[in-house]
Amino acid sequence: AGPLIEARDLSVHLPGAETMTPVIDKVDFTVGEGRTTGLIGESGSGKTMIASAVIGLLPEAATVSGELRLRDEELLTAGEKRRRNLRGHEIAMIFQDPLSALNPAQRIGRQVGEILRRDGLPRGEVDRAVVGLLDQAGIPDPERRMRAYPHQFSGGMRQRAMIALALAGSPSLVLADEPTTALDVTVQARILRLLASIQAARGMSMLLVSHDLRVMSHVSHDLVVLYAGRVCERGPTKRVLGRPRHPYTKALLASVPAVREASVPADPLPGAPANPMARPSGCAFHPRCPLARERCKVEVPLAREIEPGRFSACHFAEEVTP
Ligand code: SF4
Repeated sequence: AGPLIEARDLSVHLPGAETMTPVIDKVDFTVGEGRTTGLIGESGSGKTMIASAVIGLLPEAATVSGELRLRDEELLTAGEKRRRNLRGHEIAMIFQDPLSALNPAQRIGRQVGEILRRDGLPRGEVDRAVVGLLDQAGIPDPERRMRAYPHQFSGGMRQRAMIALALAGSPSLVLADEPTTALDVTVQARILRLLASIQAARGMSMLLVSHDLRVMSHVSHDLVVLYAGRVCERGPTKRVLGRPRHPYTKALLASVPAVREASVPADPLPGAPANPMARPSGCAFHPRCPLARERCKVEVPLAREIEPGRFSACHFAEEVTP
């Protein structure tokens, strides 16, 4: 089977000081059927902008080009009505802040059941389905909890309620944007394990946006490493993190102690992230790259398939040592 989501040459331009600036610049990636793709990068890398393009909620001033397909359907030219219909059904979203998705004045069960009612599930069956969804999302005592309001839930429980809400439309794709950043570390780990197990049990696809490599290494099957709105490297997560083929991935990995052996101290990433509105010439990473040379300042590196299924956009990918 082909991928569920396929982006080719996806670009998003925003109005800059004089011209439209490509904050996302010719990005390629896929989300496989029944797999999780992680988008990782520092702030300004464009990961949230890409997620917004997939869900169809780009800023009004943005122009978008390239291809972005859901199965055989081109999303970029789909009408607003179709996009709205896709959201909540085919594509559901999990946000960092569940309160932005939950209605404070409505009982949790009523909110989770709304899409089921709208889709014509008989009244008597909605409650049972809601209990099932809350249970799948790991909410204990769902018959009682469905009558609670969001403010009566802890942060972690609200996150679970939002997951139940996202699952109610039986989505093919769940888009999770930094879903656990606001939670404490143990709750984060539990929610991520839950997301990974739901993804596997339902055979759905997930697009996970995070700046946290530890999150990615546990949950994502495939990884897309972004820098200043371009893809540095992509491929199966284990192989990308096991042997980076781009100096930025390598630096990112070195900056996270838990991904490496605990005894090796982390090296913070030197320099500041590039601003995609004022991207350095050539390879955007060149001011921070230990392998940079003249060619890097003038020539934008194109992604090359350096081994089957693995792409690197570095002129000197072969020189990146483990
Ligand atoms: Fe570094 Fe040059 Fe590769 Fe860019 S193209 S990552 S600057 S070596």
